[in-house]
Amino acid sequence: MSGISENLKNVTGKIAAACARAGRDPETVELIAVSKTHAVESLRDAIEAGQRHFGESKFQEAEGKIALLPNYVQWHFIGRLQRNKVRKVLTLFEVIHAIDSFRLAALTDDLAAELGIFPKVFLQVNVGGEASKGGFEPDELRAEIYGLLGMRRLEIRGLMCIPPDGPNAEAARPWFIMLRKLRDELESAHGVSLPFLSMGMSGDYEVAIEEGATHIRVGSAIFGKRSYRVDGELG
Ligand SMILES: *Cc1c(COP(=O)(O)O)cnc(C)c1O
Repeated sequence: MSGISENLKNVTGKIAAACARAGRDPETVELIAVSKTHAVESLRDAIEAGQRHFGESKFQEAEGKIALLPNYVQWHFIGRLQRNKVRKVLTLFEVIHAIDSFRLAALTDDLAAELGIFPKVFLQVNVGGEASKGGFEPDELRAEIYGLLGMRRLEIRGLMCIPPDGPNAEAARPWFIMLRKLRDELESAHGVSLPFLSMGMSGDYEVAIEEGATHIRVGSAIFGKRSYRVDGELG
């Protein structure tokens, strides 16, 4: 058994335990293996161990890997999306996790219409109001959600966040609660369904599950430490 398949087993076990604590069905939590910076061989190990959902944050890097891997693999774009990459990302990725502005949503909607597709997206919320991170401010999202929900092509599945760095997993809990409550509020204010919450990474996914995460984005706990930084914001 490779280190990666062991790691996956370990993570899956912790997901099950967190679900048990929260009285949730583990089937309601999608594990996205964040494979940015890792070589295609590592992804193959994970696929062999049964993993099907992968997250990448740079289009160029992902494109090469996607071409080499089976087409039943589902790709999640989790990084900051540049406007000039939207069209390409729409052609290769199943889900976009970080729609972080009205302008980007509108462009994605237009390009989806051109391509004849209905992309699944998450709206990123800058829960901590950090200058270094993208996303809607909560008040901005309250003001713009009506227009966002009216876009013809975007299937808005829910909200996503990357909480501020904290000393431990518990420190992330209030941010996860904030995202869930904002989702609940938007749902009742607009009579819509935003069923999914993309939150939780290697350091805090168990807490995120306890607070309602449906999509957890886990990298280093599966693939080991990354040897270089990809985003300005995350190692
Ligand atoms: C890199 C990254 C992750 C995974 O981080 P780990 O701490 O390695 O689990 C999750 N979400 C986003 C948006 C990322 O960029």
